[in-house]
Amino acid sequence: MLVKRILIVGGGTAGWMTAAALAHKLGSTPVEIRLIESAEVGTVGVGEATVPHIRHYNATLGFDEAEFMARTQGTFKLGIEFVNWGRIGDSYIHPFGAFGGDIGGVPFHHQWLRMRQRGPVPDFEAFSLPVQAARRGRFRHPGTDPASPLNSYNYAYQFDAGLYARFLREYAEARGVQRKEGKVVDAALEGESGFVRSVTLENGEKLKADLFVDCSGFRGLLIEQALKTGYEEWTHWLPCDRAIALPCANEERIAPFTRATAQKSGWVWKIPLQHRCGNGHVYSSGFLSDEDALETLLGAIAAPPMAEPNRLRFVTGKRRRQWVGNVVAIGLSSGFLEPLESTSIHLIQLAIGRLLDLFPTQAWDPLDAEEFNRLMAFEYERVRDFIILHYHATQRDDSDFWNHCRTMRLPDSLEYKMALFRERGVVVNYRDGMFLEPSWLAVYLGQRVLPRHADPLAEKVAEDQVLAAMAAMTARNIAMADGFPTHEAALAELAAAAAA
Ligand SMILES: Cc1cc2nc3c(=O)[nH]c(=O)nc-3n(C[C@H](O)[C@H](O)[C@H](O)COP(=O)(O)OP(=O)(O)OC[C@H]3O[C@@H](n4cnc5c(N)ncnc54)[C@H](O)[C@@H]3O)c2cc1C
Repeated sequence: MLVKRILIVGGGTAGWMTAAALAHKLGSTPVEIRLIESAEVGTVGVGEATVPHIRHYNATLGFDEAEFMARTQGTFKLGIEFVNWGRIGDSYIHPFGAFGGDIGGVPFHHQWLRMRQRGPVPDFEAFSLPVQAARRGRFRHPGTDPASPLNSYNYAYQFDAGLYARFLREYAEARGVQRKEGKVVDAALEGESGFVRSVTLENGEKLKADLFVDCSGFRGLLIEQALKTGYEEWTHWLPCDRAIALPCANEERIAPFTRATAQKSGWVWKIPLQHRCGNGHVYSSGFLSDEDALETLLGAIAAPPMAEPNRLRFVTGKRRRQWVGNVVAIGLSSGFLEPLESTSIHLIQLAIGRLLDLFPTQAWDPLDAEEFNRLMAFEYERVRDFIILHYHATQRDDSDFWNHCRTMRLPDSLEYKMALFRERGVVVNYRDGMFLEPSWLAVYLGQRVLPRHADPLAEKVAEDQVLAAMAAMTARNIAMADGFPTHEAALAELAAAAAA
């Protein structure tokens, strides 16, 4: 028998994404879903860039893209541009899509590496259609014909997180989720099981439930403050621990991508939305003062700020367990990896999916929690390694921060991945997961990590054949990207559809 009452503690992006998804999935059951949030506490107020998986979440809930984009002031995102990471002056885009196509049955990057060892070749990004479109400020929805290059990429969104939460709230409330305003001040645990039985609000009211979803943000009200689960800290690999967010007006053109520009002791993000541009500086307090960080950010933004700086502190890492007893932590309460690859909302989505896959019954099989924790730990560690790669694979030596990142000891899992790539261009592949081969290639090659050898099987295709295939790919990408509508035209078309 399913659990009967669910209480979600927290109404940020995590709380409302969870509420909406549970309402959708459990709608036809007698399960009662309540959400408590506190205007006094507020939300973290950032989190604007996503990865393509969000489209699946939206589609599952049946959102219309035009309405969603209009309601959230959303823009399209073809990838992330990384500026000044490998060396000052470098720029590459990590797109949501493939580079080139196999030549003679050999993965494209091996043929490119082989040709590169013989002489000059076009940059790796010339072989990516979404990068070519992004560089031109153009966007087109991918196609469905498997033979077309239009099927070689995906896209995500950049949106106003506050508006998204409001949109989700409407959806969830329309499907029976009961929202309550109030501040949780205490949690009552049952002695023997250690299960949370109720939470108490500031006004003395007690709220009981069977399953508690802790979406209370960095505090981890239930998972940490009540259950003392413990935190696995990763600051020795990812030393950034602070951020300042500061929106400003948009430039004339709205880029269909997020930009991450490396600075002396961190990096600055730029996330263009329809109604404004989100900016922020993620930095390490061990290497940079808060005042200098603000100065760096003010120097990096394109227009005067539209709000007061929002200052945030965080500790990179994850809870030792994210499901303990009858409490499941989702969102910032479960851990945090800095936003360099826009992964937090995706980790929320993953946790919701896993919770639904392993949805508890009143028997509370401990294996459900064990499997949830195993899967989430796996995802966190994979994302962690990918983000560390950006910091470590650098030739920058212009600050103590970069000297630390370049020379630090890596997690064994990443050491292994990099060793395999450096030797002969092998990307450690997963059957599933967030960042697959094209993503690793974008960062390795974009940050000057070059293998010693290409796959020897690449030699089975004659050089002139490879060069001709490469020339055809670059010409086709340019011609196609030139034919895409501008990002602004694509947004206007969607806005017209929403209005209609
Ligand atoms: C600098 C920075 C940049 C980021 N950028 C991105 C990005 O580009 N892309 C991305 O995917 N993610 C990003 N993130 C992460 C993203 O912001 C979060 O994953 C997302 O907002 C979810 O937050 P949350 O809902 O877990 O927590 P919060 O937004 O903090 O919400 C917590 C909720 O709990 C409630 N609450 C807390 N205490 C109590 C209490 N005592 N009683 C009642 N209610 C309570 C609060 O009122 C609030 O409703 C970023 C994070 C940071 C720090």
